[in-house]
Amino acid sequence: MHLDRYRASGAELIMGQARFTAPRTVEVELADGGIRRIRGDRVFLNLGTHATVPDLPGLAAARPMTHVELLDLDRLPGHLIVVGGGYVGLELAQAMRRFGARLTVIEQGPQLAGGEDADVAAAVLDLFRDEGIDVLLRTRLVGAEGTSGQEVRALTDGPGDAGIVTGTDLFVAVGRTPNTEGIGLELAGIELTGSGYVKVDEHLATTAERVWAMGECAGSPQFTHVAFDDFRVVRDNLHGGTRSTAGRLVPSCMFLDPELARIGCSETEASRRGIGYRLLTLPMAAVLRTRTLSEPRGFLKMLVAADSDQILGFTAFGAEASELMAAVQVAMMAGLPYTALRAGIFTHPTAAEGLTFLLSGTPTTAQ
Ligand SMILES: Cc1cc2nc3c(=O)[nH]c(=O)nc-3n(C[C@H](O)[C@H](O)[C@H](O)COP(=O)(O)OP(=O)(O)OC[C@H]3O[C@@H](n4cnc5c(N)ncnc54)[C@H](O)[C@@H]3O)c2cc1C
Repeated sequence: MHLDRYRASGAELIMGQARFTAPRTVEVELADGGIRRIRGDRVFLNLGTHATVPDLPGLAAARPMTHVELLDLDRLPGHLIVVGGGYVGLELAQAMRRFGARLTVIEQGPQLAGGEDADVAAAVLDLFRDEGIDVLLRTRLVGAEGTSGQEVRALTDGPGDAGIVTGTDLFVAVGRTPNTEGIGLELAGIELTGSGYVKVDEHLATTAERVWAMGECAGSPQFTHVAFDDFRVVRDNLHGGTRSTAGRLVPSCMFLDPELARIGCSETEASRRGIGYRLLTLPMAAVLRTRTLSEPRGFLKMLVAADSDQILGFTAFGAEASELMAAVQVAMMAGLPYTALRAGIFTHPTAAEGLTFLLSGTPTTAQ
């Protein structure tokens, strides 16, 4: 599909590895052999990131999988050890568990889904434990022995017993590293941040003239829809616009079953930023749609400003959470007070109808 769209656009697609040799000039090692040198009037970097494999004793020799190898697996691991309790680790851990593998998730932080509130993370932990997934929190991978795909031992440091988790396969999902090293960006005057991302301003312009960066390599939130919006920011500004990446309302969804979706502020973030808020919460079981689906797990919560009816944030953990979140997102985009959503008539029995029940409650003032 993407190739067809490329062809239709009239743009030339060259498959190969590009490397800068001078400002706005790249040398491409072509996938089917040979080298091609290209100089552009304007350059747009869309380099992405790759899975980080930490430099730990024995880890590289154990040949752990990243998501690339895991998604290509044509067999079921006997006992899969997943290192990392973020999006990638959790989504794939649950999927592999449902295929029938034994699963252990190792997470160095105090909770799964580190970016979410503690009550949300606790609900995800309950889900995982109910599915028979072993979760080791506050446990850090310090090394590995053996070979993933045969027998592998994850050496850990944490409150657990022996510090060794033995399994058949090891999957590392501990974060991402930008694809910015070793491609001559310095020869093109393109500076990096301390963490290796391309340094950009709020219009995604780099430090080099007529060079822009978009998506994950520019340090933008790591989602496809954000990379796409980065593209729109640059495109629109090239056509005379003044769009910026500052203050964007970015939704996200962890595609567990059930889904975990959030838009705007979490409680943790509001507290950190000193933003006063009131809270509305509702168990998913009270959303009648979840009864029709027989999937009553989870809850909804909305943060409303302490001194107005402005919606600050919304989290949904439950069936159809991402679609439900989109309704709140539109209200936030329009600057609607939560009372306007409350007054809406939503179809029965849809997930969105749950908003009627959530917002009919009395907001409690957070401590
Ligand atoms: C397992 C997994 C699941 C995900 N699921 C979701 C999801 O459900 N929803 C969501 O919104 N996001 C998801 N993401 C994140 C999403 O994939 C990324 O945020 C998105 O792809 C970023 O787009 P990008 O254009 O910045 O980079 P990429 O999509 O990574 O594209 C960068 C491309 O540049 C190429 N490249 C890099 N360097 C060079 C070079 N020197 N020369 C030539 N080519 C080069 C790379 O090979 C790559 O093809 C997921 C990520 C992972 C790993």
